[in-house]
Parts: sequence; structure tokens; C-alpha cells
Amino acid sequence: MYAKTHMLLGGVVGYLISPTWLGVLGGIGSAIISDIDEPKSFIGRRVFLVSIPLKWTMKHRTVTHSLFFSILFSCLFVISALIISIFTDATPIFTLSYVVFGGILSHILGDMVTGRVSLLWPLYRKKIGIKVPFWLYRVIDMLFRLALVYLIINNLIFGDVINNLLKNKLF
Ligand SMILES: [Zn+2]
Repeated sequence: MYAKTHMLLGGVVGYLISPTWLGVLGGIGSAIISDIDEPKSFIGRRVFLVSIPLKWTMKHRTVTHSLFFSILFSCLFVISALIISIFTDATPIFTLSYVVFGGILSHILGDMVTGRVSLLWPLYRKKIGIKVPFWLYRVIDMLFRLALVYLIINNLIFGDVINNLLKNKLF
């Protein structure tokens, strides 16, 4: 999927995990982190010092598109939260550990609808997913994006999304 579609999906998933700004923004951010292994991607272009060597060594859609990566990233937040909780309230960091897990998973599943990823890396390195021609990739991506925009607008107008985001504090 394209970065914009990943961001929309990640924002929705993040909101569902935590109906707060932290949930939405954490979901959007974590939903694009996986493409750090592709120098031409939205995020890869910005951190090319990481993305170029990563693509050379690991290839695209491998380690950063695995369950292992989503669990690892989530664990990093849990460990940080445990350390921070010694000194102060670490609830937002604990919340983020769920949000980033969901955000990264949404990216991986999104990519699997239009291509293959090494979901079970490093246990099983073969790529899994639905491989489609480029024109269909674009059609599916567009349909997903339209559905997400509809869902978001619908919930902004008729749901309690705005209420929740205004009512809840940052996290
Ligand atoms: Zn990807």
C-alpha cells in the first residue's frame, strides 16, 4: 500500500486501541515505520542513512514487515515504560506499546493484501501474501483509501470521535 493509505489505516487502528490523540498519532507514525527498509518510500527517503543499508542487507519487506518486528518494537516501549515507571507515571508509554503493535501490524496486513511480506521472519523467510499486478495494486489501494476516508468522515460527523479526542487529555 501507499504511505497515505497506511497512515489512514494506522490512525484508525491507533484510535480503536486508544481513542486519544496519542492513539491516533502513534498509530499513524507506527504504520509507516516498516517501510524504513525501502529508500524510495515516504519514510525511507527521510532516513536514507538507515534505509539504504537496510535494503542492501535485508531486502524490502523482510525483517521490518514481520511479526517479530512488531513485537520487538512493542517490547521496546514496554521496557522504556517499566524504567520510566520507577520515576513517574508511564501510562502513556504503556499505551503506546499497544498502539505501535497495532500500527505496525496494520502496515504488514495492508501490504499482504497487495503483495508478499516475510511475516514469520526469521523462523520462516518465505514471503506470504497476495501478489497482484501493479494496476490491481493501485485499484485495491484506492478502494481501501476511499473506504477509510468514508469511515473516518462518517465517524467524525456521526460518531463520538471528536468528542473523545476533545474530552480525553493527550493520552
Ligand atoms: Zn511496507
